[in-house]
Amino acid sequence: MQVKIKETILEILKGDITQLAVDVIVNAAGETLKMGGGVAGAILRAGGYKIQEECDKLAPIKAGEAVITTAGKLKAKYVIHAVGPRWGEGEEERKLQNAILNSLKLADKNKLRSIAFPAISTGIFGCPKEWAASIMIKTVLDYLKSKTHLEKVVFCLFSDEDYKCWSQTLTKMTETL
Ligand code: ADP
Repeated sequence: MQVKIKETILEILKGDITQLAVDVIVNAAGETLKMGGGVAGAILRAGGYKIQEECDKLAPIKAGEAVITTAGKLKAKYVIHAVGPRWGEGEEERKLQNAILNSLKLADKNKLRSIAFPAISTGIFGCPKEWAASIMIKTVLDYLKSKTHLEKVVFCLFSDEDYKCWSQTLTKMTETL
């Protein structure tokens, strides 16, 4: 599903983020930027080791922060590595908001036109899906009120259940716009 917010399309889709032909995909990274499991492992396998080498020069970063690297063999041009919160560590909401916001700002700073996010923090980091969906979507909707280069923002979900959760949240949040 997709909605238009001012000049930008906000799209929710189900799929493998490593296969998307957008300017930049976001990695759900950890503080050390070691690309082991989950979406990070998939990005490493599809994009190649050069991404990890660039990460090693930028690590470590804190929860809520984001850095950008090239994207190796991926269709995307860049990867933004954003660290979300681990459930239970404290200040989860602020950290998830900042992870999204800093990714959007970094994409804009590099004049990129399309960005795709996975469901940051909802895998190994254990955050509840509905909670994460509403924070991530609200942060994007707020950001799109200001001027941006971004023509498309995608949330790429890996399961039917996650797709349903993100689409229902977006529907609810945009009903009143
Ligand atoms: P975190 O450590 O931030 O929780 P994970 O990588 O464990 O990050 O998981 C984040 C989300 O990414 C999970 O919902 C997981 O199902 C999803 N995911 C895993 N692989 C992919 C992929 N190739 N494309 C899109 N989403 C993916």
